[in-house]
Amino acid sequence: MTKFSFTRTAQDGRARTGVIETARGAIRTPAFMPVGTAATVKAMLPGSVRETGADILLGNTYHLMLRPTAERIERLGGLHKFMNWERPVLTDSGGFQVMSLAALRKLTEKGVTFKSHIDGSKHEITPERSMEIQRMLGSDIVMCFDECPALPASRARISESMQLSMRWAARSKEAFGDRPGHALFGIQQGGLEEDLRAESAAALREIGFDGYAVGGLAVGEGQEAMFGCLDFAAGQLPEDRPRYLMGVGKPDDIVGTVARGIDMMDCVLPSRSGRTGQAFTRRGVLNIKNARHADDPRPLDERCGCPACRQYSRAYLHHVFRSQEIIASMLMTWHNLHYYQDLMAGMRDAISANRFAAFEADFHAARAEGDIEPL
Ligand SMILES: [Zn+2]
Repeated sequence: MTKFSFTRTAQDGRARTGVIETARGAIRTPAFMPVGTAATVKAMLPGSVRETGADILLGNTYHLMLRPTAERIERLGGLHKFMNWERPVLTDSGGFQVMSLAALRKLTEKGVTFKSHIDGSKHEITPERSMEIQRMLGSDIVMCFDECPALPASRARISESMQLSMRWAARSKEAFGDRPGHALFGIQQGGLEEDLRAESAAALREIGFDGYAVGGLAVGEGQEAMFGCLDFAAGQLPEDRPRYLMGVGKPDDIVGTVARGIDMMDCVLPSRSGRTGQAFTRRGVLNIKNARHADDPRPLDERCGCPACRQYSRAYLHHVFRSQEIIASMLMTWHNLHYYQDLMAGMRDAISANRFAAFEADFHAARAEGDIEPL
C-alpha cells in the first residue's frame, strides 16, 4: 500500500507546490477540496467533480454520523464505495459542526455531548469516538478532534480552549493508532494570538502528525485579520508536512492563503453559491438572476472550459435559474468548481515557474475590471 507522503516540488516566496501521495491517489497542491457534506457534492455526479480537476473531497463527520450513520456506511463498504468516489477523502472531526449546528451542547474534558439538529437524538463525540467514526467511514485524511471558540473571545478563553484541543490531539493520535496509508492531521489553535499559536504548534509537533491544519480561522474575523494571523501561524508549522487551512474561502482568500504557505483548503462556497445563482469568474462574481443576462448569448466566461460555458449562454442559465430548473444548480455548480480548480492549477503552474507574484497581480487586475459590459 502506498504510504502517505508529501513532496514539495517548488517554492516561490512562501507559496509552495507539490504532491501528497495517498493509497487512493495523488493530490496536487495547492489543493482545493470541494465539500461533500452528506456524501455528495450537491448537484454534481462524482465523475463530474473529478472532471473539474478535484483530486480529493471533504466529508463531514457530524452530518454522516447522524445520517446515515458511520456504522451503516461501514457495513456498506465505506464512504468511497457508498458515494462512488474512489479518490482520496478527508473528513473533518465533527467538532466544528457540533459547535455550529447542534443543540444543547455540553463540553467537558472528555468530549462533547449534544442533540442532533435533525431529530433531537442525543450523541457524544470524544477524540476516541471521532477517530472511530472517521475509521468506519474509511477516510484517507483524518482530522484530530478539537474545540474552537467563536471569535471574538477573551484571551483566557482562547488559551484554555487551545490547551484542551492539544490534550485532545494527543488522545486523537493515541486512538488513531498505526494505520498505514492513512494520515492524521493535527489542528493548530490559539485564535489571533501569536504566542498561543506558537504554543499550539509546539505541542502538535511534539505529538507528531502527518499534516497540520490551521484551525479557528475563517470564522468571521475578516480577511485582514486572517492573513495577519497566517503571516506567523503557517510558518510555525513544519515545512515538510502539508498545511491545511480549514473552511476557506473566496477566490481572493485562497490566493492570499497560498501566498502565505498554505497547501490545502476546503469551502462550500463554490457549490453553495452556484445554487443561489452566483458565478465566480476571472472578473469577479456575477449574479445570473440579474435581468441584464436575459438576452445575453455569451457564456459566463469565454475562457472557461466547463460545460456551462462551452455549451450554454448566460441567457439560458438566467432562464433555468429563474424557472427553478434543477439543471441551473448543476451547471452553476459545475462552473464554479471548475473555476476554483482552474485557479488552483494556475497557482501550481505559477509557483513551479517562479512567477507567483505576477500571477497574483494578474488575478487582482482581472477582478478589478469587473464583469463584461452588458450588450
Ligand atoms: Zn465555466
